[in-house]
Amino acid sequence: MKEIFVQLPGQDRSYRILLEAGLRFRLDDYLTQVCPNPRVWVVSDALVARLYGSGTVALLKNRGIQASLLTVPRGEKSKSWPVLSRLVCQLLEQGADRQSLLVALGGGVIGDLTGFLASIFMRGIPFVQVPTTLLAMVDAAIGGKTAINLPAGKNLIGTFHQPRLVLIDPEFLLTLPARERRNGLAEVIKAGFIHDLDLLEMLSGPGQTLWRDRQLRNRGLLAEIIGRAVAIKARVVAEDEKEGDRRRILNFGHTVGHALEKASGFKIKHGEAVAMGMAAALDFSVELTGLSPAEASQGKELLRSQGLPLRPPSLSREEVLGALQMDKKRQADHLVFILLRRLGEAVIYPKAPLTMISDWLRA
Ligand code: ADP
Ligand code: ZN
Repeated sequence: MKEIFVQLPGQDRSYRILLEAGLRFRLDDYLTQVCPNPRVWVVSDALVARLYGSGTVALLKNRGIQASLLTVPRGEKSKSWPVLSRLVCQLLEQGADRQSLLVALGGGVIGDLTGFLASIFMRGIPFVQVPTTLLAMVDAAIGGKTAINLPAGKNLIGTFHQPRLVLIDPEFLLTLPARERRNGLAEVIKAGFIHDLDLLEMLSGPGQTLWRDRQLRNRGLLAEIIGRAVAIKARVVAEDEKEGDRRRILNFGHTVGHALEKASGFKIKHGEAVAMGMAAALDFSVELTGLSPAEASQGKELLRSQGLPLRPPSLSREEVLGALQMDKKRQADHLVFILLRRLGEAVIYPKAPLTMISDWLRA
């Protein structure tokens, strides 16, 4: 089993990330380790609940742990006030109190929503992340960011609330559709670009065919790849919990990516948008930070070979630029941009000209 320790300052805030195939069948052991005698509520979306919800609750009950399942509709729209307040009411009706424990069983949507719920319910109760999508395993479940959306934008209300434990079982990915796998793969590749050349080599070598195999037969390699991406996120987050400079390198590909997502009315998935954003950032890195053209091509080839898009479909350039103008990190006609000095080494570039992006969109 792989074990990654996230060490944060303060009491009760450090936690373990455990990674192994089949770990979901030992959830009971690990829950009782972080929380003796817990009363547990497992939160899932409708599909994940159907696939894994009752099994999880039965496992806990067999161990004598009181457990119930709370289900919300699938999709981003569940990160909302109405769904949140319904969950709060259900918890109260069912007798939850400050000693209760929440388990987020699902993708990033469930992790964000459950984490937020845990952070505000009775001024905060503990929660555990059990991510079931690749995106949540390598990204959303780690770092303690929680949020819901508002009509005015995504993730506008949220908290920092660290989980007590993150339990990653790669076998959840067996049922995950190919498009959702690719969505997470973009963040895995990002981890390699910013910090891990070996991971990039694994992905473009033996890892190339791994994801196309529905059965994900090469479990050793699968765990190695996920573990490396997790370790990078965990390390960066531990160094910089609340988005100071260091944590910004995780935004590689995200400045353009977020703008594309937004301009498409969120029809483009996050991972696809980030892939295009990374392709752009590779080009900008050649111009601004000395990445060699050969490395930029190699990076783009890796994205392409994993089935990720490099160029946006026809989106209105004005809308993409409009979305960029709203970027929190913008100053006048410049943007803070994460670029690469070489593959595996990110740098923060404080003054990337907006014109470079509009030229890229035009190209
Ligand atoms: P993400 O993790 O990409 O942020 P979601 O939480 O919305 O996003 O999950 C994406 C979709 O995948 C949801 O419709 C969810 O029901 C589904 N899903 C999550 N985990 C699994 C799984 N292990 N197998 C099949 N479908 C899953
Ligand atoms: Zn992302």
